[in-house]
Amino acid sequence: MLRVPSLSRALSNIGREALRIVLPAWCVACDRDLPWRDRVASCCGECWRALPRIDGAKCSSCALPLYGVAGGTGVCITCMRDPLPLAWCEAWGEYRDGLERVLHAFKFQRHDFLDAPLAAMLAEVVRDRQFDAIVPVPMHPSRKRRRGYNQAELLARALAKTIGVPCDVTLLTKTAEKRTQSTLARAERVANVRGVFEASPQARDLSILIVDDICTTGETLRACATELSKVGATRIAAVSVAKAV
Ligand SMILES: [Zn+2]
Ligand SMILES: [Zn+2]
Repeated sequence: MLRVPSLSRALSNIGREALRIVLPAWCVACDRDLPWRDRVASCCGECWRALPRIDGAKCSSCALPLYGVAGGTGVCITCMRDPLPLAWCEAWGEYRDGLERVLHAFKFQRHDFLDAPLAAMLAEVVRDRQFDAIVPVPMHPSRKRRRGYNQAELLARALAKTIGVPCDVTLLTKTAEKRTQSTLARAERVANVRGVFEASPQARDLSILIVDDICTTGETLRACATELSKVGATRIAAVSVAKAV
């Protein structure tokens, strides 16, 4: 199959849409030809329907699936000791298989047109919509310049449209860039996000929903929520597409 990543990158949004029409397209999850009708953006319908949704009980503090727990919610062992400072935390699926590949394409391969279908998943799992603002986990400006976009911000904006709560990217910013969180062990992750986020005084008295693409240990969400609390946000919850387990 012909692949033209450099050409694809060079094209604008409109250009990339045209590219998908004139060249054979492939499913980001299974690499097979993308059917013309049965598809969700760049994922074939078969793979999309097989995405690993978390159907059973989840930890009410960090959204970790709780296998063997019948119905309702519980709290995982880690959160029993040290719960996240959130009213609630949700995730749609597990970060593996098709969902891992879809999110990788969304994050690193400019498949930004996946924003609406992924935001629809977030809308399915948000426990309530009583928020003044939706805030994406911010990306440092230099990284955003390199990558061209912050995938969490695309999700937050699409979710804002879906559930009718405004997205405000000015309430939380990333002021320092340390190492990429995904390469670190839990203890290192805690230190790695300390002091890198800054909340605006405008967040005072607001209830805020934080949005991210992937939640791993939850230390990034903890750091974001802690800064928002410091400036007086009254209620903070979080939702991500996938929970890494
Ligand atoms: Zn597929
Ligand atoms: Zn937990």
